Amino acid sequence: MAEVDPEIYGLVSSEFARQRDGIELIASENFVPLAILEAQGSILTNKYAEGYPHKKYYGGCEFVETVEEVAIRRACDLFGAEHANVQPHSGTQANMSAFFTFMNPGDTMLAMSLDQGGHLSHGHPLNFTGKLYRIVGYGVSPETETIDYEAVERLAKEHRPRVIVAGASAYPRFIDFSRFATIAAEVGAVFMVDMAHIAGLVAGKVHPSPVPHADFVTTTTHKTLRGPRGALILCKTKYAQELDRSVFPGTQGGPFMHAIAAKALCFKMAATDEFRTYAAGVVANAKKLCAALGERGFRIVSGGTDNHLILVDVKGSRNVTGRDAEKLLEDAGITVNKNMIPFDKEKPFVTSGVRLGTAAVTTRGMGEAEMERIAEIVDRVLSAPEDESLRIAVRKEIKELSEAFPLYPELLQTPSGVRAALSPLPRNS
Ligand code: PLP
Repeated sequence: MAEVDPEIYGLVSSEFARQRDGIELIASENFVPLAILEAQGSILTNKYAEGYPHKKYYGGCEFVETVEEVAIRRACDLFGAEHANVQPHSGTQANMSAFFTFMNPGDTMLAMSLDQGGHLSHGHPLNFTGKLYRIVGYGVSPETETIDYEAVERLAKEHRPRVIVAGASAYPRFIDFSRFATIAAEVGAVFMVDMAHIAGLVAGKVHPSPVPHADFVTTTTHKTLRGPRGALILCKTKYAQELDRSVFPGTQGGPFMHAIAAKALCFKMAATDEFRTYAAGVVANAKKLCAALGERGFRIVSGGTDNHLILVDVKGSRNVTGRDAEKLLEDAGITVNKNMIPFDKEKPFVTSGVRLGTAAVTTRGMGEAEMERIAEIVDRVLSAPEDESLRIAVRKEIKELSEAFPLYPELLQTPSGVRAALSPLPRNS
């Protein structure tokens, strides 16, 4: 890469240094194991394999279709699902394929409102969902800032949706999947869960699973699940054929076999005791970070967290907008993202909150002592927004902290973080 394209190589190298030297608190990000980088960077990227195992539309699929079969079997085992489709390229495409299985244009979708924690692909006006479907949003109660299940039931009975969607991008509490399923059954709606954020916690058995309750479960594979950028759909056998048709040829062409190989590795790794320990560590770290911020006077939306993420009302706590907090922390070497909080008075591009997550820092091996230290640093930075020299000093501190928890220590450290010479895959004897 360095020889062929120094421009891109330079940018990849800079991004590697940014990841290595900073503290990553974006709740949807993680650092994949080296074996997953290897699978994603493998020669499987060369192969076309439209269709499904043993029904492929191309020759030469005998190895890649086995890769896909293994990935499917592992996904079903990991989550206790009847059927899995491992081809979706992204979470949004997984949602599109699932919706296309049972929705027609004009049908009604009841989903969490975006400004209360929902995702773009659950009804944003510019997303395909907002254009194709009639969207009814539910949210949280103003008192507890947790999902208002009574309102969900009322809205379901009033609007008779074709689908009820549970799952969110910025909701720090357990979701009562059984209660949602009961409501969906009452009104004859399909029940779909988008567990993108919490999939790793579900796999690690530290979060209740939606699989026994939902007709369809979609997820990305790259957040708490710590796999490659991509997605997965689980469903009951009775929907399997329709769902598979919705993915291919419905919404995608050739699957990314390199990504599917990497997903297979991810599912294998997520089934281990080691991963369970990791998932428990993610939640323990989130609780610790949350408590340490609370002790320093930050208002935490919903008063705490049950999962990997924390929503902090920075406007209410330090009179700094989410946008400014994101920038101040970035200058200090900590990456977070601004986020709407429930009933936010600021615009989506400004916001009153920031969203923090502990999946990536836990992967680096950080524990509760480091969470205390990070909370203390966040407090210092956001309490003195005018103090640029403080942020320069903090940046050094953050670099030292991250050096104590090296990123990819097993990697032959080239400037870009790409292994200098990948061993041939597989080796012919
Ligand atoms: N669903 C939820 C709940 C998400 O939080 C996200 C991404 O953040 C997605 C779906 C979309 O995933 P992707 O960015 O891969 O399309």
